[in-house]
Amino acid sequence: MTERLRSDYCGELRSDDIGRTVSVCGWIDRRREHSQHLAFIDLRDRTGIIQCVVDGSHDLRSEFVVRIRGVVRARPDGTVNPDLATGAVEIGDAEVEVLNTAEPPPFPMHDRTDVDETIRLRHRYVDLRKDRLQRNLQVRAKVNSAVRNAMERQGFTEIETPMLIASTPEGARDFIVPSRLKPGSAYSLPQSPQLFKQLCMVGGIDRYYQIARCLRDEDLRADRQFEFMQLDAEASFVSQDEVLEFIGEAVAEAAEAVTGERPGEIPHMTWLEAQERFGSDKPDIRFGMELVELTEIFAETGFNAFKAPCVKGIRIPGGGDLSRSRLDDLTDQAKQWGAKGLVWMRVEESELNSPIAKFLSEDELSALRTTLEAEIGDLLFLVADEHRMVRHVLGLLRLEMGKPPVNEGGLQFLWVTEFPLFETIGDDGSPVPAHHPFTMPHPDDMGLLETAQGEEVLAIRSQAYDLVLNGWELGSGSVRIHQGDLQGRIFKLLGISDEEAQAKFGFLLEAFKYGAPPHAGFAFGLDRLVALLAGEENIREVIAFPKTQSGADPMTQAPTPADPKHLEDLGLRLLPQST
Ligand code: ASP
Repeated sequence: MTERLRSDYCGELRSDDIGRTVSVCGWIDRRREHSQHLAFIDLRDRTGIIQCVVDGSHDLRSEFVVRIRGVVRARPDGTVNPDLATGAVEIGDAEVEVLNTAEPPPFPMHDRTDVDETIRLRHRYVDLRKDRLQRNLQVRAKVNSAVRNAMERQGFTEIETPMLIASTPEGARDFIVPSRLKPGSAYSLPQSPQLFKQLCMVGGIDRYYQIARCLRDEDLRADRQFEFMQLDAEASFVSQDEVLEFIGEAVAEAAEAVTGERPGEIPHMTWLEAQERFGSDKPDIRFGMELVELTEIFAETGFNAFKAPCVKGIRIPGGGDLSRSRLDDLTDQAKQWGAKGLVWMRVEESELNSPIAKFLSEDELSALRTTLEAEIGDLLFLVADEHRMVRHVLGLLRLEMGKPPVNEGGLQFLWVTEFPLFETIGDDGSPVPAHHPFTMPHPDDMGLLETAQGEEVLAIRSQAYDLVLNGWELGSGSVRIHQGDLQGRIFKLLGISDEEAQAKFGFLLEAFKYGAPPHAGFAFGLDRLVALLAGEENIREVIAFPKTQSGADPMTQAPTPADPKHLEDLGLRLLPQST
């Protein structure tokens, strides 16, 4: 048998290993010349770092790939490093074999200063060697394996669905792949496996799951990439509550695998309550500052700005010392969010100190103090407008004033249920689905579905639910429509004609004729869950090879110009670039 290159990983050597002859492999993390004949090398692999004492190191450089052989020994007194897992030992009398040389790294490997992200991504293979990404990718692998275990244990079968498909609507733009064999036609890349998983239910799979890659051509942000991974699931003959339990189990197992602690039972809140109390459909419940209803107090007010359908406020504990210029900035900000104005009040012993206080009656002022539970030194913000606008503006202001950093406040999961069936009325006068067109209306609102006129449809609730973690929407799901006639009625309401429905989803409607069981499902974004478990604000930090905010890969240069031969095979010609 040939000799193994490596006997041990660097980061795993401990006092127990003292006296052993070992062989470790990795990259030179740091090198310190002590004298002409004595140098220290910190050798790094994916497990950590070990200090090696060698006889001279002048021809060695950072990031050289080496194998080091020697004997593990205790570090001399006074040189033990308690911050390092291997800090009690070192490899002495070490012999270095250079396995490969390396150019100097394209960015400093140790500085905490932020390196430009494009440079990091251009040399992602070097970036990946750093602690942060090593750790994050381990977290990711743990999460994948934990959710797999949880789903398998609950009787779910892993099924792979195709990547080259007809369009599945999730409200984003499709990436399309032109067909060579059928010029002028294209496949879509899946925005989600939605229709296939529903067809699996018709096919008697009963409980399906997949760690699915989804592709959506939409503007990128810190929590969004063109391609992302979901834990996608669907089950037959189950209630909404059972789905929430399945998924709750999967996220609890993932959180426990990473933090060692199992999160408690996930609380539920209806969409309406979330809007009323937090001004958001994805409330960050790590902190209070809830929206407080004040409309009644101003029912008879003489102050014109408060003669509005809705007045609400929030209290910022101890916020009374905010400077006037910061308050002016926040007022401008609130206007940008759509408010007509923002009223602020400093809570002082003798008065509510505010430019508008003089327009309010004593009764109004004292009711404000009591209802908002104001204490001296607090700051109050009030907004008056239509309900939606008040919630929207105060919801954002609440986050601005109170949102804790990503790695503080623990993991606060929340189920938001009873989403509206429709989000808005589109330009063509038809309602736009809040989730997707296959979502079952709420059983108590079936009547409204028949009778609602115009904007009234926006009051129809659905059996759709979201999972929220620390103010991030982790994922969504719903009980599905499984009867062809109800699906047809929803398509009609959405302004989708019979022909269009047939052309787009004919196969689903046909499948529903062959015995579709009642079914429900869910999908949550693994990238987002991993980011929050790893304490990262940006999902790019938990993806091995992400794209930049503009959708590019600085390393492979993707997207690259298409080869003219490919275009010809596909029967495509590029239009001249418009200027
Ligand atoms: N397909 C949905 C999504 O990707 C999730 C679901 O309804 O199961 O958001």
